[in-house]
Amino acid sequence: MKKIKTDFLIVGSGLYGCVIAERISSILKKKVIILEKRNHIGGNCYSEVDKNTGIEYHKYGTHIFHTSIKAVWDYLKDFTKFNSYRHQVLTKYKSKTYQLPINLETINSFFGKNFSPSQARDFVTRQTKKFYKNNYNNFEEKALSQIGEKLYKAFIKYYTFKQWGKDPKNLPPSIFNRLPLRFNYNEDYYKNPFIQGIPLDGYTSIFKRLTESSKIEVIYNFNYEYENNFKVKYLTIYTGPLDKLLKNKFGKLEWRSLGFKKEVINSEDYQGTSVINYPEIKFNYTRIHEPRHLHPERKYGKKTLIIKEYPKVNNSEPYYPINNSENKERHAMYKNYLIKNKNKKIIFGGRLADYAYYDMDMTISAALNKFNIIKKIFK
Ligand SMILES: Cc1cc2nc3c(=O)[nH]c(=O)nc-3n(C[C@H](O)[C@H](O)[C@H](O)COP(=O)(O)OP(=O)(O)OC[C@H]3O[C@@H](n4cnc5c(N)ncnc54)[C@H](O)[C@@H]3O)c2cc1C
Repeated sequence: MKKIKTDFLIVGSGLYGCVIAERISSILKKKVIILEKRNHIGGNCYSEVDKNTGIEYHKYGTHIFHTSIKAVWDYLKDFTKFNSYRHQVLTKYKSKTYQLPINLETINSFFGKNFSPSQARDFVTRQTKKFYKNNYNNFEEKALSQIGEKLYKAFIKYYTFKQWGKDPKNLPPSIFNRLPLRFNYNEDYYKNPFIQGIPLDGYTSIFKRLTESSKIEVIYNFNYEYENNFKVKYLTIYTGPLDKLLKNKFGKLEWRSLGFKKEVINSEDYQGTSVINYPEIKFNYTRIHEPRHLHPERKYGKKTLIIKEYPKVNNSEPYYPINNSENKERHAMYKNYLIKNKNKKIIFGGRLADYAYYDMDMTISAALNKFNIIKKIFK
């Protein structure tokens, strides 16, 4: 069969693949083919409009853009404008709603107090002291030492259990480091980002602009395999999982996954905010998303859309890497094998190939950095 010729081949139309494609086409003026196994562009950032309500939602989970990396913002602002949305997360416990990350409002409201910041700090310290250790062996030990038993049991323990499908005693303490505790009334989810918001015309429009050059061709419903039908002049950039590329030669890399269930509600506003956590074990979902709140600047109709998020373990759709030592070693085996045994004309990047969780800004930053390396080949 005749091979299809291209200068660059990119596997995956997520942020990583599309940013590199845009740079190659506009700076190097070379032809790029992007292969995408799904039937749409955008990877997990993809957004679409719900037909019943006209509300735009994020198919693979709510995505809030936020960054403090100036180079990322300088790049992205040519492809989209952002609205004024600021992310806030709430959590429902025993039918009452509290702010997250745990802050002074959460503490006062949960314990029925009216503490000042220093009183709240002293109060929490009295509850956590007995759990202090030099080394924490697991998530639970670390959490108890930071927030004490009552807050941990209400907001964290069972949420974590549902999310990871594992007793927090069997999770590494490092995961808890990501959950901040505040002794002020700051309810912003992200800490001092340079910018945050939702693209005014949705995420998918960004991807359309990134790939609008006539030098870029996107082929959908195409699952790339190592043995293939392309004649690539310079480089293949693969953004899929490494185990799949090598047919699970060293075993499967494990991912935590999610399922989403949409519901149309006959009311303009179901919960008054974009995301509420459900930390109690009696709910088998972890969060309810209401995407109309992501676009306060838009006028939507009288019905609203809600999306329940269900954690799944070992589902075929990879969302979050399970970064235990076994998976890390396996990923290193794949990486080393590919570096040693395969030709020099294929490189890897993006969250799937790196077996890592990257926010969108980190993904863009990594893609821009990789392009700078690629560019040097042409100098
Ligand atoms: C639930 C969830 C919520 C998130 N929320 C946020 C957020 O609020 N803010 C934030 O900054 N970031 C968020 N992120 C992170 C964000 O999704 C990532 O930073 C971004 O999607 C990474 O882009 P990528 O190109 O590396 O990977 P992906 O978006 O996964 O794109 C990879 C693409 O490659 C394709 N592919 C894989 N293998 C093959 C193959 N063999 N052949 C052809 N195509 C293939 C896939 O179909 C996919 O389209 C979230 C992630 C998740 C999972």
